Amino acid sequence: MAHQVVRINENTWRIEDQGVRFFLLAGTEKALLVDSGMSVRNAREIAGELTGLPLELLNTHADRDHIGSNAEFDRFYMHPADEPAYRQGGGQGTVIPVGEGDILDLGDRPLDIIHIPGHTPGSIAVLDVKGRFLISGDPIQDGNIFMFGPNRDMNAYAMSLARLEGVMDRFDEIWPSHGSFPVSPALIPQLREAAEKQMAGELAGTKIDMFGQSIVRYDAGCAGFLCTE
Ligand SMILES: [Zn+2]
Repeated sequence: MAHQVVRINENTWRIEDQGVRFFLLAGTEKALLVDSGMSVRNAREIAGELTGLPLELLNTHADRDHIGSNAEFDRFYMHPADEPAYRQGGGQGTVIPVGEGDILDLGDRPLDIIHIPGHTPGSIAVLDVKGRFLISGDPIQDGNIFMFGPNRDMNAYAMSLARLEGVMDRFDEIWPSHGSFPVSPALIPQLREAAEKQMAGELAGTKIDMFGQSIVRYDAGCAGFLCTE
């Protein structure tokens, strides 16, 4: 099965795409895809079967498993700090830059953009202000969080989590791109503490082989961090 569409409520859907998840949010005036899948190349078509509203796209970051259908869009929202990696991977189209403090309004549905660098420099989270949920992308989830390779920054990651702890009164659920759906906001301080421990050398690591690279998986209890040694 290629992908699975799950309706969350009357104007919100999640699309499960073989280990990665993306979202469709509809307001009164337009709809927004948050990421465009990993294996699917027709996210626009999938969304078109769910809503007739004009459709826009936002990427939580530029990792390969979040941009599968970007070629269907001439322009899309992305944090500019992830554009170099997007171009390096051959990504086309016009980036409409978004960042900390920006508000996208879908029509009676304001979305606050929160910049959470660390997993990538341009990682962003999307806060549905009225729905009281946070779409977190990869940085907050209970699976393995990729922190190896270029552009990853554990210190920035811990600082992003600390900042999110400061706005936890604004949401009741977190909707990540991988792992369980949904997860509790309580995961944020747990991950922040684990990231601090990892940097202090206090987390146990296990060597694993991934894509021919030697990676260390640090067990954060609530999740795993995949790092180089
Ligand atoms: Zn991902």
